[in-house]
Amino acid sequence: MTVLERAGALREVGAGIQVSPNAFRVLEALGLRDAITDASAPSGGVELRGGATGALVARIDYARHRPGAPFRVIHRARMIEALERAARARGVSIELGTEVTDLPPAPLLIGADGLHSRVRAALNGAETPFFTGQVAWRALIPLEPGAAFVAQLFMGRGRHLVSYPLADGLRNIVAVEERSGWTEEGWSLPGNPDDLRAAFAGFGGPVTGWLDRVADCGLWGLFRHEVAQRWHDGTRAILGDAAHPTLPFLAQGAALAIEDAWVLAACLDADADQGAALARYQSLRQPRATRVVAASNANARNYHLGGPMRVAAQAALRAGSALAPSLLFRRVAWVFDHDPTDLRA
Ligand SMILES: Cc1cc2nc3c(=O)[nH]c(=O)nc-3n(C[C@H](O)[C@H](O)[C@H](O)COP(=O)(O)OP(=O)(O)OC[C@H]3O[C@@H](n4cnc5c(N)ncnc54)[C@H](O)[C@@H]3O)c2cc1C
Repeated sequence: MTVLERAGALREVGAGIQVSPNAFRVLEALGLRDAITDASAPSGGVELRGGATGALVARIDYARHRPGAPFRVIHRARMIEALERAARARGVSIELGTEVTDLPPAPLLIGADGLHSRVRAALNGAETPFFTGQVAWRALIPLEPGAAFVAQLFMGRGRHLVSYPLADGLRNIVAVEERSGWTEEGWSLPGNPDDLRAAFAGFGGPVTGWLDRVADCGLWGLFRHEVAQRWHDGTRAILGDAAHPTLPFLAQGAALAIEDAWVLAACLDADADQGAALARYQSLRQPRATRVVAASNANARNYHLGGPMRVAAQAALRAGSALAPSLLFRRVAWVFDHDPTDLRA
């Protein structure tokens, strides 16, 4: 197997990633349990907080609802290193600095080529991703002593900020703001920490101190298009963002790509008829990807409410969390409980 990657080096700067149990099951099946565990930190759950004061609104407690289940957070570079090492050890050839312009003829070509996938375009025709009206800053800062290993999500009108501790003494920050347009060339660019601080100046609690410590940040325009209609044509197939670009509001885009990859390989292993295997892959994966993408889109609306809507929604969340602490977890349990390595699931 050969991987063609246009980047000159496998690295990802300034960003962490949440690895929920559904993705971890695949990493474990690949023999990477120890490598990922050693390079990552645990995540005890998610705390939803008001942006202005930092006051707790509701808590989703992973440890309480799924004791022992691997909820981890990891620097993307560490995740990529572990995957690269394992792939090379199994004889995969990784050709860096190789941009695919014309799709090469091959018995099987898998397009894991992201939002602007050429393989998706070959299968579905040209589609232009649309700007979602949101941008995301990403930054890493040193972790303060005694930090709790939970993700904290601060909600405000038209914006929210998520932060969690990573391993290696780092804290990851993702800050999302609604914007009317994205005029920059390209999809990501270096961000200005002062712009980030200004956009979240109305936020309080620990956010002010965290943002004061941001020295570098990146800024992403969040684009997407619909889940692809056609995922394969018998010799070419797509997975991950190429098939279903996923907004980061459920932290599942990379997790879905990892799930896809396992199911695609398992279908190909199980069936000598490649066309039938690829058809099975699409039928297994398309409904789940569609459901996760829709849930992620809905979160963007919920996190960014303003005025009376926000007051009412946060009061309901607070009451619900106090009266029935498992309610919020039950609403997302289907995401985490899924086992992609069980093709009957
Ligand atoms: C702010 C933010 C936070 C996020 N947080 C999380 C999270 O916590 N958990 C999570 O699961 N997901 C998260 N995501 C989503 C996640 O980053 C994406 O869904 C995931 O990276 C998609 O993986 P992919 O491999 O499909 O595509 P990509 O990561 O886009 O990889 C595509 C690769 O293909 C290469 N490529 C593209 N075109 C060509 C070509 N023509 N020739 C050669 N190479 C090419 C690219 O260089 C790239 O390496 C987040 C996203 C954002 C923006």
